[in-house]
Amino acid sequence: MTGENCLLCQIISNKIPSYKIYEDDLCIAILDVNGASPGHSFIIPKNHYPIIEQVPDEEMGHLFTVSNKISGAIFENLKVQGTNIFVRNGIPAGQQVAHFMINVIPRKENDNINLQWPPKQLSEEEMSTIELKLKDQIGSVGVSKQTPQIRKQTTPKPEPILDDEDDYFMNQINRIP
Ligand SMILES: [Zn+2]
Repeated sequence: MTGENCLLCQIISNKIPSYKIYEDDLCIAILDVNGASPGHSFIIPKNHYPIIEQVPDEEMGHLFTVSNKISGAIFENLKVQGTNIFVRNGIPAGQQVAHFMINVIPRKENDNINLQWPPKQLSEEEMSTIELKLKDQIGSVGVSKQTPQIRKQTTPKPEPILDDEDDYFMNQINRIP
């Protein structure tokens, strides 16, 4: 499945040159030439899926596994203190090309990359309404029939850089899979 005139499909087929840092049967990873920081990477499925909802579950798992490895390589080799791993899904979310991809953005303290937003507190009624609207439809998608295999971590853990109040966050980062 390829998209006519799709910029990313042309990069995948090498019609347009790129800084490719990884490739396998299902995806490539390239550097963003106009990235937020040095090492900003895109993980791109070889199949032309315009939005995330079209990506099959198995492929999504693979794409995030590759993204995690690339994040680990960035930690190890670019001396950064964090990464943002995220998806722009749909035009209001900033998606610019109709071909799904995952961004990995290397982060350092005080790097002035603004991914913060002002918190919005909703009323209990609004929260309950949204909870009801979503949870029935989502159902049991998170229940896995397979026992997850515990694999040894091969990438280094990020350096702790946060204050005491971020204990919960650090526990997540330092958690051994
Ligand atoms: Zn495409």
